[in-house]
Amino acid sequence: MKVNSTLLSVAFGLSGCLTGAIFSYTPLNAQVSDQVGDAFFIENVRIIIGDGNVIENGFLEIENGLIETVSAGALENAEAKISIDGQGKTIMPALIDGHSHLGYQGRSSWGSQNYGKQNLIDNLEQYAYYGFSAVFSAGSDAPNIINSVENARQDGEFIGAQVLFAAGMAPPGQGPNDQFLSHALAVEDEVSETILYGLENPEQARKQVRAASANGIKFIKIWVDDRGGSQRKLSPPIYEAVIEEAENLGLKVFVHQQFASDMPGLLSAGAHGFLHGRIGQDFDSDIANQTSVSGAFIIPNWGLAELRREAIGEDSFLSDIFTNEVMQPLTAGNDSRQNALRRDSVSEAERVASFLGLIDAGVDIVLGTDAGAVPDHPFGYTGHRELEIYVRLGMTPMQAIVAGTNNAARHLGLEFKGELKPGFSADIILLEQNPLEDIRNTRSIERVFLAGVEVDRSRLKDKWKP
Ligand SMILES: [Zn+2]
Repeated sequence: MKVNSTLLSVAFGLSGCLTGAIFSYTPLNAQVSDQVGDAFFIENVRIIIGDGNVIENGFLEIENGLIETVSAGALENAEAKISIDGQGKTIMPALIDGHSHLGYQGRSSWGSQNYGKQNLIDNLEQYAYYGFSAVFSAGSDAPNIINSVENARQDGEFIGAQVLFAAGMAPPGQGPNDQFLSHALAVEDEVSETILYGLENPEQARKQVRAASANGIKFIKIWVDDRGGSQRKLSPPIYEAVIEEAENLGLKVFVHQQFASDMPGLLSAGAHGFLHGRIGQDFDSDIANQTSVSGAFIIPNWGLAELRREAIGEDSFLSDIFTNEVMQPLTAGNDSRQNALRRDSVSEAERVASFLGLIDAGVDIVLGTDAGAVPDHPFGYTGHRELEIYVRLGMTPMQAIVAGTNNAARHLGLEFKGELKPGFSADIILLEQNPLEDIRNTRSIERVFLAGVEVDRSRLKDKWKP
């Protein structure tokens, strides 16, 4: 039996914050999904829209899981309405992770043995806990299993981030990093589903794209990388065929590429976006301009290399939801955050220069983390850390938030996510502190609503760290 947790918590969990009396409460019937909530307001609150604009003091009306009204000023006759007082607080759209690999990271281990419905739900609940409304899983999923999870979410069996996923394509038997590859192949064996589509030549590659499309898959991830010589690299004639066939069928193609020098050819072929920036070294302003003109996005993915050297187990924003045994190896032997920041000023200056070049060229930056591709790169947590890196390297906090909301939604085709505007899904983070003053304030999460229903963060925390 599913009850409307939003109204329950508004009515009974917030006594100190409520401005007026609560009148009637109508429970929803058991069949309704999390797409449906009832009506409530958040008032006296700073509203970060997600498109670069902010309302310093306003209110938001939520009805049936959607945003009904967004307005500056005070809510009229507020006492008569079910309302959350956001005095001194900020709301922003829930975040979206444009590059993840769901299913392999469990609560205390990583690998193919974890891949299945229950662990996928746990991963998506973790995203929701950290204020994410959607996640793109990049080419490592068993379609029937992950579709069953998304269907369960839509049926209201759990509250978590919406999942989008891609068919993975590379030369036969290749694709992900060597460790990940063996685990993805093990899942394929175990569940008898195609995860990785092998591409032999242009004609056969077109057939593979048609096969993925016939299976209802909307995205293709291609790997253009020889993994330092241990794998074969996808050749231009093959990826050109993949992208053209995908375009004909209305599918988007996102790319893992090892070098910036591969980007011009991929852009000319019509690639829709890059899941790793590669914006140091051989990246130049010509590539930035070509990316901007073509409308493709770039996910910089800075944190994947950086956070693995940092003692993230010391960070209570993470250790709050993991047992001490799991956190201990993420602490020992690594740099503290302060030391990690001081390291290597030359390459830091290079990163700043190339990132600013990309921003100046007008390239759409999309938040993405590669969480789950390797052990101990945790879902959700890494997204907040990535925003922090964007600001350290030269973005304004507002630009970083747009990368994680509106930009991500647009490029993933999530039409009604990523902004707090009428008609959009009521995917909202209520923050105690203002992230426009310090991007690390995206961590000051007080409440999360997905499609107007509150994520029960304390229940999740208790489940994960009793
Ligand atoms: Zn990846």
